[in-house]
Parts: sequence; C-alpha cells; structure tokens
Amino acid sequence: MMDKKVRVRFAPSPTGGLHLGGVRTVLFNYLFAKHFGGDFILRIEDTDQTRFVEGAEDYIFECLKWCGLTPDESPLHGGPYAPYRQSERKEIYRQYAEQLLKDGHAYYAFDTPEELDAKRKEIPNFQYNHQHRLALRNSVSLTETETAKLLEKNVPYVIRIKMPDNEEVRFTDMIRGEVNFHSSQTDDKVLLKADGMPTYHLAVVVDDYLMKITHAFRGEEWLPSAPVHVLLWKYLFGLENMPHWAHLPLILKPDGNGKLSKRDGDRLGFPVFAMNWTDPRTNDFAQGFRERGFLPEAFVNMLAVLGWNDGSEQEIFTMTELIQKFSMDRVHKGGAKFDYEKAKWFNHEWIKRLPVSSLLLPVKRLFEEQGIAIDDEEMFAKVLELVKDRCTLLPDFVQQASFFFKLPETIDIASIKPKWDDKKNQFFMELIRAYELTTLWQHDELEKELKEMAAAHQIKSGELMAPFRIMLVGGKFGPGVFDIAEIIGREETIARIKHTLQLVNL
Ligand code: GLU
Repeated sequence: MMDKKVRVRFAPSPTGGLHLGGVRTVLFNYLFAKHFGGDFILRIEDTDQTRFVEGAEDYIFECLKWCGLTPDESPLHGGPYAPYRQSERKEIYRQYAEQLLKDGHAYYAFDTPEELDAKRKEIPNFQYNHQHRLALRNSVSLTETETAKLLEKNVPYVIRIKMPDNEEVRFTDMIRGEVNFHSSQTDDKVLLKADGMPTYHLAVVVDDYLMKITHAFRGEEWLPSAPVHVLLWKYLFGLENMPHWAHLPLILKPDGNGKLSKRDGDRLGFPVFAMNWTDPRTNDFAQGFRERGFLPEAFVNMLAVLGWNDGSEQEIFTMTELIQKFSMDRVHKGGAKFDYEKAKWFNHEWIKRLPVSSLLLPVKRLFEEQGIAIDDEEMFAKVLELVKDRCTLLPDFVQQASFFFKLPETIDIASIKPKWDDKKNQFFMELIRAYELTTLWQHDELEKELKEMAAAHQIKSGELMAPFRIMLVGGKFGPGVFDIAEIIGREETIARIKHTLQLVNL
C-alpha cells in the first residue's frame, strides 16, 4: 500500500504523432495509478513554442480516448491543479528560477547565439559547464555591478543551472535500482529562456511538485536529464518530496538494433504511431495502428506485455486484469523488441474473444467505406460471428464477408472448369429445383438435401462442395458453405448457382 494517494503523470510535448512507446508510457502510468486507486494526470508540456505543431494536442487526447486511458485531470478534463498546459503557467516558473538565482544554484547568462556558435567552433565538444563558464558572459564570470548593468539595459539573458563541479548525484530508479551520475558530466542546462518561458527541465520539476506527483515514469531517453532534475528537486523543494522515478526501457527495432523509429515502420511496412498522423509542416503521412485495423483492446494488451509480464505464461489480459496485476517490479530493464507478427496475433485473439456487438460499429464503417451498405444489422451480426475467427485485422472482415452483401466480384471459374462435366451440370440444375421447394431454409436441411441428391446421382459430395462454394463466394475461402447459403437466403443462393452455371457452360 502507498502512504499517500498515488498521482502519476504523462507529460507529452505535442510535437507529432504518438509513437507506441509513448502510448506504453501512458499505459504503465495509468495501470500503476489505477492499481493503487490513484490519479492519472495528463500534462501538456508545450513550453518550446518553436516546436508547436497544429493538431498535435487534440491527437494525443484522441489516442488516449481510443485506448480507453482516460485522465483524471488534464487540460480537457480540468482538475484542482489547473492549468495543465505549461504554456498557460508561464508566470509560475519565474519565481522558482529566481529562488535558484538567489540561492546561488543558477546564474544569468548573456551570451548571444553568435557567441555560443563561435565557442562551439573554437572548442571541440564544447559544453556550457564548470570548465568553460568562467570564460563566458554570465553572472558567475562578471561582477555584480556588471551583471546589474546588463540587466538594467535589458540585455537578453537566459537563466542556467549551476551544476556543481564535483558531486555525486544519486537516486533510486524503480526499474534500474541505484543510479549514479557525476555532476561534471552534465552541462549547465538552460532553465528559463530569453522569452521568459521555462525549459522542460525547470517546468517538469516545478509542475511535478505543484501537482503533487508521487511517481514519475518516463522513457529511458530522459535518464541523462535525471541528475539535473534531482538537483533541482534538492535545491527547490528538498528531496523527500521528490517523486519516485522509473525510466522505462525502450521499444526496439525487430532485430533488437536500436530504438524503433517511424522510419523502421515505413521500411518494414508496419505502423509505429497509435493513429494516423499527417505532419502539417511536411504533409508526411504515417498510418496508425487504429487505421490499420487494430482493436484498442489488442493494442493495449500488446503494449502491456512489451517489457512487462505477470510472472506466468498468460499473454491475453483485459484492462481490468492489467490493473489488478500490474507492478513496476516486473517491468524488464532491457529494451523490448517489437514484433509486428505478434502484434497481429494479439489482434486476432481479441477479435475472436470480443462479442460481435463490440465489433459491429468499426467493421460496419469499413464496409460502408467500401461502398457496401449494411441495412440488416441482425444479419450483419450473424455474418461477423461466422467469419470472425478468420480475421486478423479489421479490414479482413470486408475481404472475408463482402460476398454476403453483394455478388462476388469475380468467380473463380478456372478452378471449376477442369473437373466440370455434364453430370455435375445436371446435379446443380436439379439442386436448384430442390432448393426452390425446400420448406425449411436452414443449413442442416440444405446440407442433407445436397448430400442425398449427390448419393442419388452417384457423385461424391466432396466433389461438389468446391464448385458450390465458388458459386456462392467467388473463391475457395469463407465459412461453412451451408451457413453461407442459409444467411444469403434462397433467392440469392439460387441466383448465384444459376449465374455460375452460365459462366461455366460458356
Ligand atoms: N515532455 C517530456 C516528453 O515529451 C516529458 C518527459 C517526462 O515525463 O518527464 O516526453
């Protein structure tokens, strides 16, 4: 049990499509919070105005909605610590930067971008740090009077953290255990920019404090920034209020060689973003898992087990089970290889498991997009039930079942012809007559009639099944042929037999 109410946050910078690693970070935050009856906060970290991307914030909200990961507090849902968008909290951060200045943990830096560029050219691997700061224009190298003069003249400045020269910075990561850094390895990061906006480093610490965040889980790529954050926590708020950190392992390319990127997805033909994303600046388009035909249940399940397991062989988990079973100590330290075939396997399993009622809406939309109107919902539900075991991605339903609603586009006559003869022709002519009179249009009955008639004609019924299927479906696929006949009905069944007979006898 936790001594205070668990509060976690997902803190994206809305700059583009949401990578599956991002969704997994949301998921682990969410599961952990809900496991302990805590709150999940969504905070938008948009302090870098140069990276603003139209539509990216709405996109994040929609992704979370699709995955069923509803925040308890967010810019959209409100909450006691609003505003939850950092650009609307600008005034809050300055006082903390000033406190750091006052306490000697930060300093003004007046260097112009041109001056810094010149330094970078002059010194290989230049870093603004304890080694070089005295040779730069800042309130550490200048006298108090010189600094005061520059401030008075409104010379633009940034505020930087003064990283200690020689200090061991440690913290306990919930996944990695003890983590140590040497303060000299990190440069004097900018905390407040010339436009008065905080950088991520200052804002993340201030907001985690003000929003009473108890656990901060984020991607491993943030680990190098952790010493800056730990020091800011120490200087501003005392370490005992600091959230517990966990840096989540990366999601790796299928071959395990480095972080999975959007480019890998393009190259290998699978999505990497949760939903379709078009970058408004470049018009670069990336297909999402949702649009590829993944169910949110499968997507979430697949992500949960990318780097976590419950200690058993179980692979399929509902959200309720995940909430119940999730624990941070079973998150793996190493990166998790992404396997698209496995992702599809999860979707297939979920299609099989979910009741047809949950599939109706998304699948109906796909049929309609293909110009196939669905008027009879009851029949539609029956069809989905019949073909769902054969579908891996949602568009497979269209491929597997469109023949129920319209004539097959092509009839595979080439497969029927080589074994076609007059006997079979006679048989199907008679079958038409029999089916015209069948009293009970029901699959067992239809099967019985065909088999009895086959016996009477001395043809093996097995030899008739393939042509019969092709007549109804167009090809050699689909569920039980008598089930199909029952659903499409007498008139349609007979019409399709007649249609193929014409073609095959041409
Ligand atoms: N704004 C950071 C990001 O875009 C958040 C990192 C964190 O959670 O501290 O990933």
